[in-house]
Amino acid sequence: MKDIITIDGPAGAGKSTVARILARRLGYTYLDTGALYRAVAWKVKKAGIDPEDEGLLRKVLEDTSITINGDGVFVDGVDVSREIRTAEMGEMSSRVSAIPSVRQYLLSIQREAGEKGRVVAEGRDTGTVVFPDAENKFFLDASLKERARRRHRELITRSPDITFEATMKDLERRDIRDSTREVAPLKRTDDMIYIDTTGLDIDEVVAEIIRNLRPSGSSDRNLFYRFAAMLIRLIFRLNGGLEVRGVENIPRIGGGIIASNHISYLDPPLISAVLPRRVTFIARKGLFDIPLLGWFIRHYSFPIDRERPSPSTIKEAIRRLKRGELLALFPEGRRSETGQLLEPKRGLGMIVSRVDVPVVPTLIIGSNRALPVGARWLRRAKIKIVFDRPIYCSSTIETTRGGQRAYEEISKRVMSAIRVMKERYEDTGG
Ligand code: C5P
Repeated sequence: MKDIITIDGPAGAGKSTVARILARRLGYTYLDTGALYRAVAWKVKKAGIDPEDEGLLRKVLEDTSITINGDGVFVDGVDVSREIRTAEMGEMSSRVSAIPSVRQYLLSIQREAGEKGRVVAEGRDTGTVVFPDAENKFFLDASLKERARRRHRELITRSPDITFEATMKDLERRDIRDSTREVAPLKRTDDMIYIDTTGLDIDEVVAEIIRNLRPSGSSDRNLFYRFAAMLIRLIFRLNGGLEVRGVENIPRIGGGIIASNHISYLDPPLISAVLPRRVTFIARKGLFDIPLLGWFIRHYSFPIDRERPSPSTIKEAIRRLKRGELLALFPEGRRSETGQLLEPKRGLGMIVSRVDVPVVPTLIIGSNRALPVGARWLRRAKIKIVFDRPIYCSSTIETTRGGQRAYEEISKRVMSAIRVMKERYEDTGG
């Protein structure tokens, strides 16, 4: 399987909203399989046929083309994206979805959509039937009442007369039908991670999924990279100790930014060496000229002019994040010679306001004692690196409506998270 994430669960569990946001954050394609069943329902209604007449339905489908493109659903070239979102189409789709030849017909469309990989597929059988070999499978659930509340809120904008009670009854009926039908019933299997979304907001659910994602297939770090990382860890362990906390906060898949304070030339190799996946530093040009270290940095970073981040650097960072890479940068834009935190530059905010990826506030302590300014060789010192829980900046971007203010707010928000960590981990020494 090529990077496929499946999200199954009953109606109203929040699958589509979560899958859409998740796909955007990871730079994946979103596959709404329920929309395909709704498209079949639309066709059944349009053709005026009895949905239970499987023979006739099969004939009609043979001459029907259903395509899906992000949020757009087309039946024979007609955009039906809006029309399929009614309660009537929901009910009808649940009925046609129990018919084996409908499922067979849609199976090939779904598998084809997964062909290219990097897909978030959402539905009732995406992890069991459509993509049984997917690396990352989730099952979203919520209490019936909560799901009915969500569904009702959604439906009432289009059908103002619909009552909460009717929505709940309808959901209950669909739940039973979806989980008791003979072909591809809604089922939770052992290899799915179960998330009860009752009482959680969308961002919390998305964050929980991202936290649980596991990388597919082979490591993104070649033998040399892993060897170099091991060597660096060994050297610093022997040289006074190397303590690393919060590695579980690093997103394992998809774009992300490690934003760290910067107190020594050792910071880039140290951070690279303790991360569980490959990282590319956005480092200032001057660092590339340092002997040995410069060689290392050249291989794992791309240069930035720290005084004026050029549009091309920002573009390159965004391109890489969208491709699902992990980047690291120093929001302060330069090394602090005193060890104190400096005011952040806007660069981080400029990137994050254009691509909504998780930012992991990172604190490094002790690397300036291991290699003080001007020193030529290592001194004995204990180094500590702490990764905090990722920050998502979409709300900041919304409230500031983007632009200069957003850049500053985002950079400041991340920097204050680093400040809190610094107070906590330096004071206690723990
Ligand atoms: O998720 P949504 O409400 O749009 O799905 C409409 C109906 O299509 C569901 O009630 C379910 O019966 C059916 N469906 C399915 N298998 C899927 C997705 C949807 O049976 N993978």
